[in-house]
Amino acid sequence: MRPMPRPIEALIHAPALAHNLARARACAADAKVWAVVKANAYGHGIAAAYEGLRGADGFALLDFAEAEQLRQLGWRGPILLLEGAFEARDLELCSRLRLWHAVHCQEQIDWLAMHKTHEPHRVFLKMNSGMNRLGFTPSAFRAAWTRLNALPQVDEISLMTHFSDADALRFGQDGIAHQLAAFEAVTQDLPGERSLSNSAATLRHTPRVRSDWVRAGIMSYGGVPDYPEHDAAHWDLRPAMTLRSRIIGVQNLQPGDTVGYGSSFTADKPMRIGIVACGYADGYPRHCPTGTPVLVDGRRSRTVGRVSMDMLTVDLSDLPQAGFGSEVTLWGQGPKGSVLHIDEVARAGGTIGYELMCAITRRVPMHLE
Ligand code: PLP
Repeated sequence: MRPMPRPIEALIHAPALAHNLARARACAADAKVWAVVKANAYGHGIAAAYEGLRGADGFALLDFAEAEQLRQLGWRGPILLLEGAFEARDLELCSRLRLWHAVHCQEQIDWLAMHKTHEPHRVFLKMNSGMNRLGFTPSAFRAAWTRLNALPQVDEISLMTHFSDADALRFGQDGIAHQLAAFEAVTQDLPGERSLSNSAATLRHTPRVRSDWVRAGIMSYGGVPDYPEHDAAHWDLRPAMTLRSRIIGVQNLQPGDTVGYGSSFTADKPMRIGIVACGYADGYPRHCPTGTPVLVDGRRSRTVGRVSMDMLTVDLSDLPQAGFGSEVTLWGQGPKGSVLHIDEVARAGGTIGYELMCAITRRVPMHLE
């Protein structure tokens, strides 16, 4: 007999991925869509994400193993390495796997110049237009372009940059204006396709931002980049991941009783609580305080007390039907059409939906629906 698993699981919803991709397409106007599947498709798994996102024009990621997996799954179209090569020998892999790759520093141009290949590379030259992460500064950008353009190893140069504040204002002002201006001033007369927009820019700043390729990450998974200013209903996005478990124990509390490590929650009235098989070792954020929303059998409730390694506790006081075995949706799609958006849970825990998706641990079985 096979051992029974704990009742926790993550479901990946291919129809939701496909819906969100269609939303990206609709918002991106005429631009092509990179589905961003880095970090194991934001925790959803490359193979599962591929099921829902194979209608994209290309996949953007940064891990060679993930690129290889996509090729093995049968993807023959464009794959973009968002951080490009990490060392000279990576260019060999780029050729073998037919990867387009970002070029963000002189070292990567040096490696290309030395690379012996019959297959010229398609590169995305990256500008650091103000985020100060990767890329050539506006003043160094044209020289980098000229150098790349002279290399026989390179046959096409596209232009890219990445916004730091497309989801919000920056110092109380338009969040992208300074970067857009810096990018446009330098690239105006350069040929080649452009890729600027992430999810937030795609949703909020199309068509102002001219992108031939948008890079849709979080929105592909139903996460809202500018939550709580906007929610998933506003942007018509659907959760692509559900984390769910069950109640494996019930306790009745008297006023004055406390819950969990550190006794951080004290009952002020008689209460019934359910113990859920889900803890921080499954990827549920330990920082989520008492009051973080959950669904119990599709009805909203809240956590009480601290999240521990393998368990957390929910309030059943107003849910007399709920008890041992009840289904608990930590985020995503619950029973009977109920939904708890990951952004709401993330916010309670002082983080963002991106982090929660990526944090699901290996002991949680993942199923594609
Ligand atoms: N492009 C680059 C270079 C990124 O690093 C990321 C993610 O951080 C994205 C696009 C996708 O961003 P988002 O998930 O906000 O759409």
